[in-house]
Amino acid sequence: RTPDPCTVVIFGASGDLAKRKLVPALFNLARERRLPGGFSIVGYSRSPLSDEALRALMYEAVVRFSSSGPPTAAEWESFAAGMFYCQGGYDDVAGYTRLKERLAAIDAERGTSGNRIFYLSTPPSLIGPIMDTLGASELARSAPGSWTRIIIEKPLGYDLKTAQELNAHISRIFDESQVYRIDHYRAKETVQNIVAMRFANGIFEPVWNRRYIDHVQITAAEAVGVEGRGGYYEGSGAVRDMLQNHLLQLLALVAMEPPISLEADAIRDEAIKVAKAIRPLVPSEVDAHAVRGQYTAGWVGGKAVPGYREEEGVSPTSTTETYAAIRFEIDNWRWAGVPFFLRSGKRMTKRAAEIAVQFRQVPMRLFSTTEADLHEPNLLVMKIQPDEGLTLRLAAKLPGHAIHLRSVNMEFRYGTSFGVRSSEAYERLLLDCMFGDATLFTRRDMVETGWALMMPILDHWAASGERNLHFYEAGTWGPEAANRLMDEGRAWRRL
Ligand code: NAP
Repeated sequence: RTPDPCTVVIFGASGDLAKRKLVPALFNLARERRLPGGFSIVGYSRSPLSDEALRALMYEAVVRFSSSGPPTAAEWESFAAGMFYCQGGYDDVAGYTRLKERLAAIDAERGTSGNRIFYLSTPPSLIGPIMDTLGASELARSAPGSWTRIIIEKPLGYDLKTAQELNAHISRIFDESQVYRIDHYRAKETVQNIVAMRFANGIFEPVWNRRYIDHVQITAAEAVGVEGRGGYYEGSGAVRDMLQNHLLQLLALVAMEPPISLEADAIRDEAIKVAKAIRPLVPSEVDAHAVRGQYTAGWVGGKAVPGYREEEGVSPTSTTETYAAIRFEIDNWRWAGVPFFLRSGKRMTKRAAEIAVQFRQVPMRLFSTTEADLHEPNLLVMKIQPDEGLTLRLAAKLPGHAIHLRSVNMEFRYGTSFGVRSSEAYERLLLDCMFGDATLFTRRDMVETGWALMMPILDHWAASGERNLHFYEAGTWGPEAANRLMDEGRAWRRL
């Protein structure tokens, strides 16, 4: 099955995301023959480029970034034949009129039937002007019998108020069914596997609740720092960049009720329902249930690295958090009393993202009278990156006459079990958008619910100066203070 013939217009085509992710992803899809006949790309930005110059730029990008290897001459020739460039400003109606004419010509020559995706791969400040100009030039409206969709990148607002304004702005020009908000985390194989694992296996659902689960830890750790994007990160921080969107999505998938179908809105309805059941922190709870940190100079992977305040573009007195950990509870029948711990940080010991579901200890420890019993309670870990897969920790008897117990792991790894290249998140997202499947994209209500949950924390921190900012050495698992979120014998996992 391939989608309807269509054209993807990339606004900001001269930029980093287009080169590193979007065009390599589209090329991989073309190579695997998953794109419709006549599929075309139009790059739009202010840089003076010709069709040929854009093709040359993208050839280099695909050679460098395609996860399936460089193109053969024949593959590139056929892919590049559908790639065009249109130069113009982002609020320039004349430029959009040229774009419209170009699109009409492509429809006629390549049979793309008026179906379009507008991909906004520009800084967020340009979303408003681009949408307004798409509206004014009537490019936002679909011709009869064809479709028009828009893909928007994160960040989706800076806080609840700006997210609501952005959503209101979008809805003046596009219908919600036309809007695809990217969350590249949702498109990762293991993340999709959460739903498959939970609802295609009979053995998990009966124990997936407060009776059997002690707590859940959701971690996204990065070893890198701000990678030259200090100026951008200063206006963001770990909560805005990771927790408000990606980690909350993961929490929703782990905690939601079974959807009635795999339709986009059936899944998104369940995700929003559980997100709304998360109890927001009140200001007086923030210091007890949320911890923020900032890295100082240290060592990562055997290399000395500077502290956050020494990074380019960062204020020497910055209080932006490069680490955040939050303890949430969900007020519903399934989860009452089960803490969900979220944490994310930069310059941590290593790059790793996972969801760890910690089961309760057995009610009676038959073997617990001696140090012979060194096993820990069952743990199910869904690894998102690197080594995507699942691990289940069990207790087993050591070989020998005496009964000595130890923990052992049962492992499932995507790479070794299926032996195929798992598709990149952007490949999946672009293809889904062409099919009109919004399952992996974030709906308006989820964006706003995520912000509403984070605002008491962000507001409290913004009003606290440096008071509750905890420093941690680069290359460690974050500030000591995060340990105090853990209670009743619980501990953060060392991955
Ligand atoms: P970028 O390289 O900074 O910008 C893309 C293009 O937008 C530039 O080539 C430039 O094209 C135009 N542009 C940049 N700054 C502008 C300004 N101040 N005024 C007017 N035009 C400007 O951005 P990107 O890294 O590709 O990211 C695009 C979007 O994806 C952003 O929303 C970003 O947050 C999001 N994102 C990026 C990544 C990534 O890996 N890069 C990952 C996740 C999300 P012209 O000058 O030719 O018009």
